[in-house]
Amino acid sequence: MARPVTPDQWLKALRAEGVTDIVEMPGWRTNNRNHKGPFSDVHATMIHHTAGEGTGLPSWCFNGSAALPGPLCHDFLARSGRLYLVGNGRANHAGTVARNAYDAVRNERSHHPAPDAAEPVDGNAVSYGLECENDGTPNRTWPAKQYDVAVRVQAARCRFHGWSADSVWAHKEATRRKPVDPRLPMDQFRRDVAERLAHPASWNPGDKPSKPTTPSKPVPPKENPVALSDADVQRIAKAAADEVWRVMAKSDGVYLAPTDDPQYSPTVTDPGHYWSGRQVMADLVRRVRDTQKAVADLVAAQKKES
Ligand SMILES: [Zn+2]
Repeated sequence: MARPVTPDQWLKALRAEGVTDIVEMPGWRTNNRNHKGPFSDVHATMIHHTAGEGTGLPSWCFNGSAALPGPLCHDFLARSGRLYLVGNGRANHAGTVARNAYDAVRNERSHHPAPDAAEPVDGNAVSYGLECENDGTPNRTWPAKQYDVAVRVQAARCRFHGWSADSVWAHKEATRRKPVDPRLPMDQFRRDVAERLAHPASWNPGDKPSKPTTPSKPVPPKENPVALSDADVQRIAKAAADEVWRVMAKSDGVYLAPTDDPQYSPTVTDPGHYWSGRQVMADLVRRVRDTQKAVADLVAAQKKES
């Protein structure tokens, strides 16, 4: 059971979705056909074109005619992007519709099949209707602003009810009586509605990815929650040292020679500029032994004096 949106809820949802150029037709809140049939459990929102253009369209949508009394939709969207609120409740916009088409929107299927010939479903009972000002001729464009508002209106209904974009259908998808109503690529239209629904209602296409409204302070790095014991640190240091010695012993790598080496050459292309790892080790051992001998000689000399 999806209870239809109230007038106040609808205005709020539209404004949240960024629809700001709104005209409330006098009496729209109670303009409906509820005395002629149900409109209490809605499951879809339909898009139409008017198949004509002109300033008289809002009142035509509001009043309809003797043969087809108004309201003829819930909202009328002018080519300027201005949205007229026309009715609330049951409206004469869809007529009868095919079962397979209705099942697709009701169950939010991604595939919207060509409508069956039989039309057993009362489309006006289960669907909202948005009429868009477009004459329906093959090359008639949709102004970018008008298209953007159409996406926002349908997204607002889906968002209000928690529906996916696959709750949006075209009149041409619901009945064979209206083969080009409207001339819009509906899968792309639904993708655009879905894109809106993936963002907050306040989103505007082309906005940069959401960023903080205030400059953020640098965040201090968090302490590592894994504490290493002294034994851990020593084990890691030993493993690292072992690895260094293993690599050095294996590679017998090349190092810069010390400048006090008798064979030392400052020319980088001379062999005397380099030592092998073995030379480094031999020199280190020699220096340690020299140091040990010097210390021993010092101690001996101190003993003699005392
Ligand atoms: Zn239509």
